[in-house]
Amino acid sequence: MIKKHPAPPVPAGAIPQRAGDSFAIVPRLPSGIITADQLEALARAIRQYDIPIAKLTSGQRIALVGIKAEDVPGVWAGLDMGEGRAVKHGVHYVQACPGTAACAYGLQDSLTLGTRLEDMFNALDLPAKVKVGVSGCPMCCGESYVRDIGLVGRKKGWTVVFGGNAGGRPRVGDELASGLSADEALDLVGRALAHYAANAKKCQRTARFVEARGIESVREALGLAKIQE
Ligand code: SF4
Repeated sequence: MIKKHPAPPVPAGAIPQRAGDSFAIVPRLPSGIITADQLEALARAIRQYDIPIAKLTSGQRIALVGIKAEDVPGVWAGLDMGEGRAVKHGVHYVQACPGTAACAYGLQDSLTLGTRLEDMFNALDLPAKVKVGVSGCPMCCGESYVRDIGLVGRKKGWTVVFGGNAGGRPRVGDELASGLSADEALDLVGRALAHYAANAKKCQRTARFVEARGIESVREALGLAKIQE
């Protein structure tokens, strides 16, 4: 009988790769904004540790892939960046379009709201992964309606969307409220996530949670008015 070798220990802050002999890391990058210092530190690490793949992810982050186990602590030490969630349940990323900071069509400041949102909810443990999309206008370049949490900027303020998903069983999220200030939108997102955390099954994404419970039940729990037919 062939004896199976136990899997090598996973270094802190690393994700095992398929072959099991190298690791990936995903630094936090709220709203996809990166500084010159961070870019230089990433480039230094890639050269110093001969990292074969630096990948811009769909969540507007930069994954470093193919790192040797013994190099992982040194790579992290040189980056001075937090760890973004990539496997553990919770808010994985907040993607944000340029909004009023850099887009002629922008109606709201999506970059600032996205960064605030990531700061507020990054450490929250949730039943499954949660993806957030923030768009500065209804054209929705931040893919807000197909994210677990979506925010859409309109003339009169923010619309909060809940329960969207762009995966194999796609779902368009439900609007919870519109015309909100940034603070009001963050408060509603916090309450929606708390309700989801307290009531969803383990590994149940928000889309499946809303399908199981019904959006009216979610609205009622959040103290929102009934949708008029
Ligand atoms: S969603 Fe609107 S503000 Fe954001 S990038 Fe697209 S067009 Fe510009």
